[in-house]
Amino acid sequence: MKIKSAEFVMSNSDVTKCPNNAIPEYAFIGRSNVGKSTLINMLTSRKSLAKTSGRPGKTQLINHFIINKNWYLVDLPGYGYARVSKSEKKKFQKFITNYFEQRKQLVSAFVLVDIRHEPQPIDLEFIQYLGEKEIPFSIVFTKADKLKPKAINRNVKAYSNELLKTWEELPQLFVTSSSKAIGKDELLEFIDATNEE
Ligand code: GDP
Repeated sequence: MKIKSAEFVMSNSDVTKCPNNAIPEYAFIGRSNVGKSTLINMLTSRKSLAKTSGRPGKTQLINHFIINKNWYLVDLPGYGYARVSKSEKKKFQKFITNYFEQRKQLVSAFVLVDIRHEPQPIDLEFIQYLGEKEIPFSIVFTKADKLKPKAINRNVKAYSNELLKTWEELPQLFVTSSSKAIGKDELLEFIDATNEE
């Protein structure tokens, strides 16, 4: 897929106020600092698409971008802030579960994880949640340029083994690097293929 256009549509804190039409959408989510904004900009070949709506203090927003006028790229807030209170965490969980459980247009979620790290409980819990709710998702490993090929394979395998403790089948896995544009074509092809179904 060639990206011909990518435009910011709206930011929302309420899933019921998100665009009300049948355009299919793909949501990007992961721990803060995992490289989500950079990945979105790499995928869309735009320098600061993801940052335009990411104003400080407005972190808990669902951001819709329209790509090629035929699918929405949804930038969800990063999770896993260490310094938030229990009640804030609860509020955030509700906000995210509302999105995933109510958004009928969602074709697939992309859960971003840093390829350098061992599987983290917060990511595994989130993946578990998506699986239980039967929400289609893929895992996108980020920052692959930071590791040698052998280490990439080792870490992907370790992650897969962790998932196979709970699941019979693995989700689709993508290895990416935004600084080297690794995985870009694969991700866009996946979106293209699932968007046409
Ligand atoms: P977000 O909080 O998930 O949106 O993360 P950002 O996109 O802001 O990235 C967090 C940090 O990781 C920034 O310093 C980026 O420059 C860096 N980063 C993001 N993607 C990559 C990548 O593919 N390779 C490398 N080496 N660094 C990256």
